Amino acid sequence: MADKIDVIVVGLGNAAICAALSATEQGARVLMLEKAPIEERGGNSLFTAGGFRFVHDGLDDLRHDILNDLSAAEAEQIILPTLPAQTYLDDLMRVTEHNSDETLAGLLVGRSRDTMRWMRHNGVRFIPMFGRQSYKLNGKHHFYGGVNIEAVGGGWGLVDQLLKAAERQKIEIRYATRLVRLLQDRRGAVTGVTVKGPDGYADIDAKAVVLACGGFEANPEMRTRYLGPGWELCRVRGTRHNTGDGIKAALDIGAQPFGGWSTCHAVAWDISAPPFGDRTVLDNFQKHSYPIGIVVNLNGERFVDEGADFRNHTYAKYGREIMKQPQRAAVQIFDAKTIDMVRDEYRIRQVTKAQADTIEGLAQQLDIDPEGLARTVTAFNAACQPGDYNPAILDGKGTKGITPPKSNWALPIDRPPYTGFVVTCGITFTFGGLRINEHGGVLDVTDAPIPGLYAAGELVGGIFYGNYLGGAGLMSGAVFGRLSGHSAGQHARS
Ligand SMILES: Cc1cc2nc3c(=O)[nH]c(=O)nc-3n(C[C@H](O)[C@H](O)[C@H](O)COP(=O)(O)OP(=O)(O)OC[C@H]3O[C@@H](n4cnc5c(N)ncnc54)[C@H](O)[C@@H]3O)c2cc1C
Repeated sequence: MADKIDVIVVGLGNAAICAALSATEQGARVLMLEKAPIEERGGNSLFTAGGFRFVHDGLDDLRHDILNDLSAAEAEQIILPTLPAQTYLDDLMRVTEHNSDETLAGLLVGRSRDTMRWMRHNGVRFIPMFGRQSYKLNGKHHFYGGVNIEAVGGGWGLVDQLLKAAERQKIEIRYATRLVRLLQDRRGAVTGVTVKGPDGYADIDAKAVVLACGGFEANPEMRTRYLGPGWELCRVRGTRHNTGDGIKAALDIGAQPFGGWSTCHAVAWDISAPPFGDRTVLDNFQKHSYPIGIVVNLNGERFVDEGADFRNHTYAKYGREIMKQPQRAAVQIFDAKTIDMVRDEYRIRQVTKAQADTIEGLAQQLDIDPEGLARTVTAFNAACQPGDYNPAILDGKGTKGITPPKSNWALPIDRPPYTGFVVTCGITFTFGGLRINEHGGVLDVTDAPIPGLYAAGELVGGIFYGNYLGGAGLMSGAVFGRLSGHSAGQHARS
């Protein structure tokens, strides 16, 4: 059996399943290896909202081939800005301080639309992200921030629909089977893998291997080594299985490390959340409405510009700022003017919050220094400038004379009751990984491709540095999964 496998795909998240489907299209016989038992399958992809960022020309364009299920009545309610390729690229370069690798960034953006069409063709259905990426103004849903379309059923739905496609292609999956090391011949070509499964260690031969088994976010030793002191203490938002195994196995045979090794995607995450993702609560421990409130530490001091940009452009770097605060904690505060506008994740039962009629009362309930908080709120309120408030655009209604400023959406915190949500840092995924070429092939330390080795998803380095664009993670996994699967399939058949 094992000697007839063309392509081994390591992992069972979005990137891996896209790679497996794509390799199958090339006529390859594919085996997928999932470290998790079946009941924990799906990687981080399963925990997502299923939101994708891709190039499009607006709603009419999308209704042709991505949002085929949308009714005319629903379409009537939607105001959806276009996402031109240049805007996507410019935003990616801006948030990564122009560190994103130009070739990889160009592939991500340039192939995003066609890859969405390909996923739709493979049975994944999509809808607009009404709940999280639009504000209702004058009876219409105004979408903003560039990630506006999600898979039906979110991340769980995405993985389910992709797995159904894999089932249709009769792709074999082995659960509870983890990659231990890569096998090579004397030329250096990858010839298979050693795995540890329910029956112990085994070698499996293949003509090509695609690594799509995530970053090292769930590995406290690697987090601390690469992200820095204290990172063993953050919460992990998703799967406990992404412990850097694929990255390590590839580095062990001379693959080239690449990308933002000391940075990661990390967000504001409920302080009472468990150490790893919860498959019922999913991403609802996140708290992403800070742009319409203020954020303070336990001294009562603000420490970020909550309105620097759309949430989609700041949320992934603000978790790291929370890590630097006393007790790795922060409190997001809203007053009666904005509390009804917070995202759905604030209304779950498992939420750490308090409400009070005075700022001092709120501080006491949440163990914030009351004098510090009162001082901060008084100064913040006095600094809010007049202007037209509009949370769906960068409204420029900022503060003047305080540090840090709030650059948009600055409304005074002055109408009781006041509600505070206590958060800590939740890591999503790491940015450092392997270097791939334009075919998805893994490069070695001399820049030469390692024959038979491909990679996709979180473990590819060089796309994100320091910050990230919402919806680009799944898109990257799909684009590079499809690309590396295609290349691996061709390599195996050649
Ligand atoms: C809570 C949360 C919400 C998110 N929301 C979004 C969103 O809406 N939009 C977006 O674009 N991105 C989102 N992301 C980021 C997104 O999850 C990732 O960018 C993307 O899913 C990564 O896909 P992947 O296939 O590379 O990794 P994963 O989906 O994590 O898959 C990795 C797979 O590898 C397996 N594995 C690990 N080690 C081994 C081994 N040794 N052997 C075999 N298998 C192994 C794992 O079990 C898993 O199946 C979110 C992430 C989280 C955690």
